[in-house]
Amino acid sequence: MLMIVDPTCVARRLRVRGVVQGVGFRPFVYRFARKLGLTGWVRNDGAGVEIEIQGGEAILDAFTHCLASEAPPLARVDSIEPEVIAPDLARTEFLILPSADGVVATAIGPDTAICPSCLGELCDPDDRRWRYAFINCTNCGPRYTITRRLPYDRPNTSMAAFPQCPHCEAEYAFPGDRRFHAEPNACPVCGPQLSLYEPHRVRALARDPVGETLRRLQLGEIVALKGLGGFHLVCDAADGDAVTRLRVRKRRPHKPLALMFANLASVKRWARVSEAEAAALESPERPIVLLEKLPGFDRMFPGVAPGLDEVGVMLPYTPLQYLLFHEVAGRPVGTAWLADVQPLGLVMTSANPHGEPLVKDNDEAFERLADIADVLLMHDRDIVVRCDDSVLRLRPDLLAGPHEAAGAGIQFMRRARGFTPLSLPLPDDGPAVLAFGAHLKATLCLARGREAFLSQHIGGLDNPAACAALDEVAEHLQSILSVRPAAVAHDAHPDYYSTQAALALAERLDIPAIAVQHHHAHLAAVCAEHRLEGPVIGLAADGVGLGTDGMPWGGELLYVDGAEFRRLGHLSPLPMPGGDRAAREPWRMACGVLHALGRGDEAARRFPDQAVAQVLAMLQKGTRCPPTTSLGRWFDASVGLLGICDTMSFEGQAAMLLETLARAFGDCLALPGSYYIDERPEAGLSVLNLYPLLNHLADEDDAARGAARFHAGLIDGLAQWLGDAALATGIRQVALSGGCLHNRVLASGLRARLQARGLKVFEAQHAPPGDGGVALGQAWVARAQLARGMW
Ligand SMILES: [Zn+2]
Ligand SMILES: [Zn+2]
Ligand SMILES: [Zn+2]
Repeated sequence: MLMIVDPTCVARRLRVRGVVQGVGFRPFVYRFARKLGLTGWVRNDGAGVEIEIQGGEAILDAFTHCLASEAPPLARVDSIEPEVIAPDLARTEFLILPSADGVVATAIGPDTAICPSCLGELCDPDDRRWRYAFINCTNCGPRYTITRRLPYDRPNTSMAAFPQCPHCEAEYAFPGDRRFHAEPNACPVCGPQLSLYEPHRVRALARDPVGETLRRLQLGEIVALKGLGGFHLVCDAADGDAVTRLRVRKRRPHKPLALMFANLASVKRWARVSEAEAAALESPERPIVLLEKLPGFDRMFPGVAPGLDEVGVMLPYTPLQYLLFHEVAGRPVGTAWLADVQPLGLVMTSANPHGEPLVKDNDEAFERLADIADVLLMHDRDIVVRCDDSVLRLRPDLLAGPHEAAGAGIQFMRRARGFTPLSLPLPDDGPAVLAFGAHLKATLCLARGREAFLSQHIGGLDNPAACAALDEVAEHLQSILSVRPAAVAHDAHPDYYSTQAALALAERLDIPAIAVQHHHAHLAAVCAEHRLEGPVIGLAADGVGLGTDGMPWGGELLYVDGAEFRRLGHLSPLPMPGGDRAAREPWRMACGVLHALGRGDEAARRFPDQAVAQVLAMLQKGTRCPPTTSLGRWFDASVGLLGICDTMSFEGQAAMLLETLARAFGDCLALPGSYYIDERPEAGLSVLNLYPLLNHLADEDDAARGAARFHAGLIDGLAQWLGDAALATGIRQVALSGGCLHNRVLASGLRARLQARGLKVFEAQHAPPGDGGVALGQAWVARAQLARGMW
C-alpha cells in the first residue's frame, strides 16, 4: 500500500495531571479533537490522562493551549507535559481507549451539586427525568460518597445495584452525550427510588413522597432526609415550635443550626452576602457559608442561631433538596423561579445524635433517629462514605486562592463534602505518611507525593461509634488512594483514640509511628498549606493540647522550623478547678481568676447557683486545679466574669458569644496596662500575663463593652508578644492557628496589627484553624523528620 506522507503532520503525547478522571475529561478531549479534525486517542491511566494527538502543528498548539481553559467544570488541570513522537499515518480518527492495564484511577472526584443542565431537566415536565430525585450527569452528582473501591467505575459504587435501562445505557455509551461514562447515571425506570417512612419502619401511605414530605414540614414536623453523605434533620426554620422541638429531641439547646434556602435571592433577604460569599454559596461544592444576619432574621427564624450575629447558610445541592423547594413553589416549569425570592427556609442539620457520627444507612436511621424525626424520607441507594457538609467563611482580609472568586479568602471551619477527597498541594515530594489527627473534630491526612489528602471531618472521638468511623476512614483513604504509608503520625497524647489507632497500624505494617506535639502540628499545618520555607514564629491560640512538659498547653508562642519546634513563651497559666469540667463551665474559670486576683470572696455573689464554696476550697488547697496555658480558657474566664454564660452546652459557645458581643459594641481601644510580658530568662520563656485585663473585666457592668475590651486588650498583648519575638529572632514570617482563631475579631485584628509591624502573616485557611487541621501538620512534620533521617 502506498502511504502519502504529509510533511506538515506532527504528533505529540500529552501527559495531563490534576483532577481529570470521572469528570468528563475524556469525552471533552474526544469532542474537542474531532472538532479540530485531529486524530489519535485518549485514555485514563495511573497518573491521570494520557493523550496521543496528531495533525497540523498550529492546530495541535491550539488544542494543547485550550485543554486547561476549556476543560469541563469539575476538571482541574494542574499540568500538561508534552512529548514529541513520530506520527502514525495509518490513523484516521480519534478514539477513547479503555483505561491502561493494571492501573487504578488516581483519585475519585468529590460530590458535586446538581448542574444547571440537570436542574433544567428536573423542572421540565417533558423530560423523562422530570422530578426525578437522582438525576445526574458527568458534570454533577455523587462521587466520593458512593464509591466503595477503585477504579471509579459503576460496579465499584453503590449504583452497582441498579442496572441501566437501554435508554440510560445508550447515553452512557455515546461519547457525544452529557452522560457519557457518568457512573451514577439513572432514570425513574432503572434507578433509585424514594420512599417515605413513619418512625418504627412503617411505610407512609403517600403516592408522592416529596409532596407528602413538604406537607409534613408545613405541619411543623421534623423530617429525617437522606442526603449525599448522610441524613439531615429538617424542619421549617420559621416555625419556632418545630425548631424548639428539634433542639429538645436532639439535645442541642443552643448550638447554631444551618439553614437552606432555595436560591441566592432568598438568602439575601435575610443575610448580608458579598460577591465572594455569593460565589461560594453557588459553587458546585455548595458549602455552608457563615453569613452576617440582617435585622429581622431572629424574628423570622427564632432559635436558629441564638445570641449570634452570624448564621450558616447553604443552597440546595441534591435534586431531592431542590424538589422540596420546587414543590412549595407550585412545581413551576423551567428554572426561572430560582431567580425569585422563595419564602421557605429549612433548618438542615446533620443527623448525628449525641455527638456520634452522622447517620448514613437506612437501618441505622430507623434505630437512631426514631425518637427525633416524625417522618423519614429515604431511598434505596446506599451511602458508602459518610461526609458532613463543609463549613467555611470568607474573609476580605485574606487572599483568594487561584481557583476561588476574588475579593476574599476562604477559611474552613470544617472541610468535608464537596472538597473531600481533593488534595492540598505540598511544597515537596516525600514518603507516604498517614496522620491520625487529634481528638476533637478529628480528621486524617494522607500525604502522597506532592499532595496531602485531608479526610472529611469525623468528629469528636469520645464515643465508640466515632472511633469506629475513624478506623473506617483510615482504611478507605488508603484504599482509594492505593497507598500503603511508610510511616504514621499522631498526637503526643497517649490516651487519644487517634494515637492508639496510629500505633496499632504502625505495628501491623511495621513502620515508624511519629508523635507530633499538638501545637507544633497546628502551626506546621499553616506552613504546609502556604508552602512556607524557613522558620516561622507561630502563635497557637487554642483549646488544649498536651505539651512536652506533660501540661495542657493552648496559648503558645513557638519557633517552628519543619521537623523541629521550640517553645518561646506561653500565656500565664490559669487554674482549672475540677479539671476538664472547668472547660465546660466558665464560672469555674472565673472563680480561678478571682481567687488568683485576691477577689475570691466575690465569687459566691456572682455565681449564686453554683457550687462556689467547693471550688474555692479546691483553689485554696490547690487540689484538682491543674494549670493550663490555654487561650480558650481565658475566653471562658472572661465570659464567666462578665456574667454572659455560666455553663456551656457546646464547645466554643462562650467564645462565640463573647465575639458577637464585641462586634455589636464596635471598635474600642485597649485599656492601658491590660497585660504585661514577663521575661523569664532562666527558663528562656516569655510569659504573656492577662490578669490585669481580667481584673478590669471583673468590674465591668456592660457585657458588650467588656467583650470589646477583652478582644482589644488581648490583640494588643498578642501583637506585642509576637512582635517582640520576631524582633529578637529576626524572623519575619508569623503563623497563626488554633481553635480560637475561628474568632474573626481576634484573627483579623491581630493580622492587621502584625502586618502594621511589617510582618508577613499566614493563617490556617484550607485546613481549618481548629483541630480539624492538625492532621495536615502532623503529616508534614513526620515527612520532615523522615527526610532528616530521624527515623
Ligand atoms: Zn448534571
Ligand atoms: Zn434508566
Ligand atoms: Zn488544638
